[in-house]
Amino acid sequence: MSQNTDTNIAPQPGIMEIALYEGGASKVAGIENVVKLSSNENPFGPSEKAREAVIRAAHSMHRYPNTDHAALRQAIAEVHALDPDRIICGVGSDEIIHFLCQAYAGPGTEVLFTEHGFLMYRISAHAAGATPVQVAERDRVTDVDALIAGASERTRLVFLANPNNPTGTMIGLPEIERLARAIPQAIIVIDAAYAEYVGGDYDGGAELATRLPNVFMTRTFSKIYGLGGLRVGWGYGAREIVDVLNRIRGPFNLSTAALEGAEAAVRDRAHFQRSQSENSRMRAWLAEALMEKGVPSDTSCANFILARFADVPTAEACDAFLKAEGLIVRRVASYGLPHCLRITVGDEASCRRIAHVIGAFMAERAGGTEA
Ligand SMILES: *Cc1c(COP(=O)(O)O)cnc(C)c1O
Repeated sequence: MSQNTDTNIAPQPGIMEIALYEGGASKVAGIENVVKLSSNENPFGPSEKAREAVIRAAHSMHRYPNTDHAALRQAIAEVHALDPDRIICGVGSDEIIHFLCQAYAGPGTEVLFTEHGFLMYRISAHAAGATPVQVAERDRVTDVDALIAGASERTRLVFLANPNNPTGTMIGLPEIERLARAIPQAIIVIDAAYAEYVGGDYDGGAELATRLPNVFMTRTFSKIYGLGGLRVGWGYGAREIVDVLNRIRGPFNLSTAALEGAEAAVRDRAHFQRSQSENSRMRAWLAEALMEKGVPSDTSCANFILARFADVPTAEACDAFLKAEGLIVRRVASYGLPHCLRITVGDEASCRRIAHVIGAFMAERAGGTEA
């Protein structure tokens, strides 16, 4: 019997505008031991303590999780010196981004983000029926003046990844403060998914989100904490915003395993420090090694490098060359960067391997032979 797929029941406006998000690839046909450098994952995996907490949580799977996330919020608050009542936890920071759009945007309003911004901003804006507005960057760096010029009285949200994915670049917090003061009608969302990789005393925008009522910060356990598969993120800002978002949050949005795994992860500062320092060391090494082979990149403040090629065919050919060697990186054409490849900073062995293979590719292109 054939299925009747005809229907006059249409979804809400905006939904059919959504192009499905594609995650970084993890397989190459016919190759066994691939190195996945396409999703900005922590090469050292999660903290051993997080792993143990998740296994322990399996014993209580028949129980509903708690709904207020108090223990996890308390742990985050202690580590970051923040007020736990101004924190909300979600199924990845993606869910926080979703809540923000659902709560503050809608038909007739605009959601701003930058030219090479994270694809989830557009998806979540469409899902809420709002109009996504993309604003130009200046040489792959967020341009605050362009954002101010691009805002209108209909603007409700401005999403700003800092450092940005996939460019790896960032702007200073005084620039973000200037933006927030210039458009008080909108919430400036600092997506700080990569803040831990900046180093120094960089707080990801926490102090700004404490001080200004229209700055909100999102964070994730998917990157430096190595818990992308567990799905935990959080947001921090004005109590009023957190209260609004909690009204649309599913009471059981985070599983017990997710809550307890994340809590153990954030309290394991040794694993965090090692992940951070190894990333800084190998990021500098990889950028330099690629530069020497004729592949430049902007100074990255994150855990990946945006490798720039002379043109689109060269980037595509390099991607194919890497794949054939079992190295998976991210093509970023959908981010408006078709001549670039985004390469996650892996462990030392992966970094050495990718630099070597890209060197061989560039040498072959130049018509020479590899030393
Ligand atoms: C990876 C990433 C996130 C994290 O998303 P999760 O839902 O927390 O896994 C958020 N923003 C940007 C820009 C990212 O690259």
